[in-house]
Amino acid sequence: MTLHCISCDHRQPHDPLTFVCPRCGTPLEVLPDPEAFARGGSFEGRGVWRYRALLPAGRGPTLGEGDTGLHRCERLGLEFGLSTLYVKNEGENPTGSFKDRGMTVGVALALGIGARAVACASTGNTAASMAAYAARAGIEAIVLVPAGKVASGKLSQTVACGATIAHVEGDFDDAMRLVVELAARERSLYLLNSINPNRLEGQKTLAFEVCETLGSAPDVVVLPMGNAGNISALWKGFKEFQLLGRIERLPRMIGVQAEGAAPIVRALGDGADACRVERPETIATAIRIGAPVNWKKAVAAIRESGGEAGTVTDAEILAAQHDLAAREGLFVEPASAAPIAYLRKRGLEGAGTVVCIATGHGLKDPEVVSRHPARETRVAPGLEALRELIPR
Ligand SMILES: *Cc1c(COP(=O)(O)O)cnc(C)c1O
Ligand SMILES: [Zn+2]
Repeated sequence: MTLHCISCDHRQPHDPLTFVCPRCGTPLEVLPDPEAFARGGSFEGRGVWRYRALLPAGRGPTLGEGDTGLHRCERLGLEFGLSTLYVKNEGENPTGSFKDRGMTVGVALALGIGARAVACASTGNTAASMAAYAARAGIEAIVLVPAGKVASGKLSQTVACGATIAHVEGDFDDAMRLVVELAARERSLYLLNSINPNRLEGQKTLAFEVCETLGSAPDVVVLPMGNAGNISALWKGFKEFQLLGRIERLPRMIGVQAEGAAPIVRALGDGADACRVERPETIATAIRIGAPVNWKKAVAAIRESGGEAGTVTDAEILAAQHDLAAREGLFVEPASAAPIAYLRKRGLEGAGTVVCIATGHGLKDPEVVSRHPARETRVAPGLEALRELIPR
């Protein structure tokens, strides 16, 4: 395996502790050995580890991650003028988000180097996932979260799995900066944010599954962007499946951000060589990030694929979250509804087969549902009042 820099083309042999390019500081990517492609496509088993031939570890602590449903959404598709709309429901993963795909691989590498503990900064799902896989592997987990800004479901999972939690008085970007500095000083800690390219290798299996289920690549993939690890991982996955001869053409990648936290959309717009907004704000806490570490990879994915990036408002996100649950039965967290909100707003009529990535489960953030339209009433304990509720 090789580590490769997409910015300056630097290459060096893979090692599990090198994350960024020594020449230019861009997060590196892991390139599997060419023989893995030559042997190509002899995948076995289920879930993330089905694709072990293309991963930086042969096995790892597992909870049955991957193999999530790709659900056809005819009702919403029709409304958006799309012939074929699918939602890949990553909420079906063991801890309820796509982060599990990366953590099973990341924790495998931590075990491989004999790390005593794993660490991350998190808006919630990375923490919940890392805590679960660390528990599974029998090692310690240390998480840094922005104080008061983590959805209750995610925090509960992290507490229950026994992680040590530091509530940082600052935003996610402060927590991220701190954990990178901490891990650089404390060699017994293995950093599992998406700046670690090995985690993204696990996440690329999402793209493999979509292709295997459909029998080809979709025309368009729409997903939310926070630190932008996932869009980078998916694009890499599609390119590798093409290299294997499993798909002919590649999808267009569309990344969606919340209006109050849209550094990548800005950077793409003005062709900037920096990517940051101060004090990011959105109800979609999973993507409340002002300085995304993988922004260069995301910009490359969007440009190379002929895709685009755009924003949606919190009100549009909430409406889309309600639509997806109330009309298709898929209850996802706010960040995961951003792609649906974008489809409604943008209109991609005639785009062909569109796959939205629903990144996390709705139960992660139960409080937000209080802002949905509710059909609830308190009734006297008699049939009369109940009869009035029955649609005629
Ligand atoms: C982590 C996360 C995201 C953002 O993914 P990035 O790889 O940081 O862009 C989006 N939605 C949910 C639910 C997440 O947990
Ligand atoms: Zn470089």
